[in-house]
Amino acid sequence: MMHTTEMTAPVLTTAAKLLLEECVTPHEWNAVVRVSLKAGLLWRCHDCKENHYPIVDACSCGTQRPSHMPG
Ligand SMILES: [Zn+2]
Repeated sequence: MMHTTEMTAPVLTTAAKLLLEECVTPHEWNAVVRVSLKAGLLWRCHDCKENHYPIVDACSCGTQRPSHMPG
């Protein structure tokens, strides 16, 4: 079923968590993280290379979530 669900941060975060929960091996995890970063389901802090869910407004180092991501 196709819905025009708005891609809000909570929706994207839920999607990312569901995908990551399906990962069994570290290899799978890495692949899903890589794809999720490209798809905007996760964002990465360039300073500390830490991955964050879209609902996270800022990294622990203070770097803000990229402005292109929905709030
Ligand atoms: Zn950081």
